[in-house]
Amino acid sequence: MTSSSAPLRLYVPNDLVAGVEVDLSPDQARYLAQVMRRGVDDPVLLFNGRDGEWSGGLVGVTKKSAAVLLEQQMRVQEVECDLKLLFAPIKRNPTDLIVQKATELGVSVLQPVITQRTNSDRVKTDRLRAIAMEAAEQCGRMIVPDVREPAALLQVITDWPDDRVLFVMDETGGGDPVADVMAEHVGRNIGAAAFVIGPEGGFADTELDLLRSLPFSKFVSLGPRILRADTAALAALTCWQALCGDWRRGSD
Ligand code: SAH
Repeated sequence: MTSSSAPLRLYVPNDLVAGVEVDLSPDQARYLAQVMRRGVDDPVLLFNGRDGEWSGGLVGVTKKSAAVLLEQQMRVQEVECDLKLLFAPIKRNPTDLIVQKATELGVSVLQPVITQRTNSDRVKTDRLRAIAMEAAEQCGRMIVPDVREPAALLQVITDWPDDRVLFVMDETGGGDPVADVMAEHVGRNIGAAAFVIGPEGGFADTELDLLRSLPFSKFVSLGPRILRADTAALAALTCWQALCGDWRRGSD
C-alpha cells in the first residue's frame, strides 16, 4: 500500500461481482499510478451504473494498465432522478461547466440541441462524456449521465411523452416565476422532468411559438435579469432539486 488516502472512485463498464478482477482503462491506470501515486493493494471504489458501488484493491498497477480485485458491494444501485437537460451549446468553457455542474445536480440525460442561433460546430461529445464521467465519479453518483449527440430542437421534441413536463427557460417575459411553476409539481413525482435553455442569442420567436404550442411545455422566468445560458441551466436545476427533486429526500 503506497498511501492512506481515501479510496478513488471510478466508473467502469464491466459487471461488478465479488472476487472478479476488473481491468481499468489505460487512462485510469495512468491517472492512478502517475497522478494519484496509487499502487498495489490501495483501495478503489467502482460503479458501473447497474450493480451499485463496490470496494476492491488495486492489483498489477503500471503506468499503462491496472486492475481492481473486487471485494464487496458498499452501496446498492439506486434509482436516480429522471431529469433531462436540453441545452443549446455555447462556448467551450461554459458548455463544459454546464455538463459538469448538471451532473453534480443530478441530471440523467444531457441533450445538446441545435437552435436557430446555435453555433453547432463547437460540440465535442466525447469530451463532454469524459467531463460527465469525472463529475459523476467525484460526486458519488451511481450512474454517469447519458450525453447525447447534438440534435435539432424540432427533432428532440418530436415523439415527446405527454407526461414529461418540459420547462422552457424564457428571458423574454413570457414565463411565470419559477417557484410558482414548480410548486404545481411538488410531491407529485420525484424527478421526471426536462428543461430547455436557449443559446447566447436566445430562442428565435418562431422557436418560442413552437415551444409554447406543445401540450407538455411550461414557460419559466428566472427573474428580471438576463442570465448567461450556463447560469440559467444551473439555476433551473437548483430550483427543481430544492422544490421538487431529490434534495427533498428524507423530508417526505
Ligand atoms: N436573448 C438574450 C440572451 C439569452 S440568454 C439576449 O441576447 O439578450 C440564454 C438563455 O438563458 C435564454 O434563451 C434562456 O433560456 C435562459 N435565460 C437567461 N435569462 C433568463 C431568465 N431571466 N429567465 C429564464 N430564462 C433565462
